Amino acid sequence: MEDLIKRMEKYAVDFNIPIMQAEGMEFVLDFVNKHQIKRILEIGAAIGYSSIRMCMLDDEIHVTTIERDPTRYNEAVKNIKEAGFENRITLIHGDALEYEITGEYDFIFIDAAKAQYTKFFERFVPNLNKNGYIISDNLSFHGLVDPNANVESRNVRQLVRKIRNYISYLEENETFKTTFYELGDGIAVTEYKNKSFDGFIFDMDGLIIDSESVSQKNWQKVALRHGFELPVEITNKFLGRSAKDVQKIFETEANTDIDFWTIKNEVVNENLKQFEKEGVKLMPGVRDLLEYLKSKNKRMVVATSTYHDLAIDRLKMAGIYAYFDAVVTGDMVKNSKPDPEIFLLAREKIGVSKLNSVVLEDSNSGIEAAHNAGIRSIMVPGIVSPSDESKRNSFIIVDTLIDFKKYLEENE
Ligand code: SAH
Ligand code: MG
Repeated sequence: MEDLIKRMEKYAVDFNIPIMQAEGMEFVLDFVNKHQIKRILEIGAAIGYSSIRMCMLDDEIHVTTIERDPTRYNEAVKNIKEAGFENRITLIHGDALEYEITGEYDFIFIDAAKAQYTKFFERFVPNLNKNGYIISDNLSFHGLVDPNANVESRNVRQLVRKIRNYISYLEENETFKTTFYELGDGIAVTEYKNKSFDGFIFDMDGLIIDSESVSQKNWQKVALRHGFELPVEITNKFLGRSAKDVQKIFETEANTDIDFWTIKNEVVNENLKQFEKEGVKLMPGVRDLLEYLKSKNKRMVVATSTYHDLAIDRLKMAGIYAYFDAVVTGDMVKNSKPDPEIFLLAREKIGVSKLNSVVLEDSNSGIEAAHNAGIRSIMVPGIVSPSDESKRNSFIIVDTLIDFKKYLEENE
């Protein structure tokens, strides 16, 4: 297989075939892998290079791809046969603007004549699964789409105008949300704004339970008791982190020699005392949302960095434990958020595909973890505002879970 790939790359250079460049190809392969995409439609097969590479990722992947040029089509037939993918790659010889393609796809990859991108998009969008993605390649057109670029030839100028129009079409679209990536030759990832999810993965502290504000005050209180100050700028960094990560931040940034665990244990005790005295408070809209999801038979799981017994206690004290199909906690995984491990495990527990699952998070490290897991996320920022990465990597940002429930109702 390695050998076939090398030969195809050389053939592309020798005969001037615009197969995906390494960086863009890596992005697409990583994307397909991370999101567990199985059914792919590709517009522009050329010699079959990208479709073969996508198929190599997983035995369950199936690609439908189309090519109009007969020489390239024939070359693709040969290559697909040599790769042993005749059953997994459906290669069509024809013009994508005329040929009727049926079926529903998780991922549509537009990599054909650039001047026609808007037409391709509109033609194939009906084939896209509501929770799927469309990726368009070559949007920077080797830097020429930049309005400051100096473009000499009239043909190239026209082409550049068409690509710019396609970009505006995506940017201004009411139905779709697009994220642009400046890598390879310029890549756009487009998806429906309107979604229907089956699996809901909830962070706990600061998202459903109003514990972060309690905990933060207690960090400061315990610090002062030991004669030093722990400003919010430092305690903000603790949000959504495992105890081990918090220890690292504490030891490098706190202005004290006092042992981390001495302070940490006192904070935990202060929190418990306060919860016992005042009860565990829910964030706005939690019970309504859980009740609503339960009535729709959705799968729900908690994924929290907090340790098991503590988490279960908190959920029980708040009276919401029974809503969840599972609770996944910090002690069940090796690596904490922003590592994706905890969300991957949570998703497995509810058995819903990544495309149909969604993570709810209040912290930036949680949004990063969901992004790394290839699962969409909703950010409900509490104490800390969303970072630029979170703005880019989250599907939407809402003020409260009340707003998220409204979003779900509107999209029913
Ligand atoms: N995805 C391939 C590269 C595709 S290059 C890879 O990375 O390996 C773009 C191809 O799209 C060209 O071979 C071109 O002939 C084909 N193409 C362009 N417009 C098309 C159309 N309307 N219908 C079918 N194929 C088209
Ligand atoms: Mg949190």
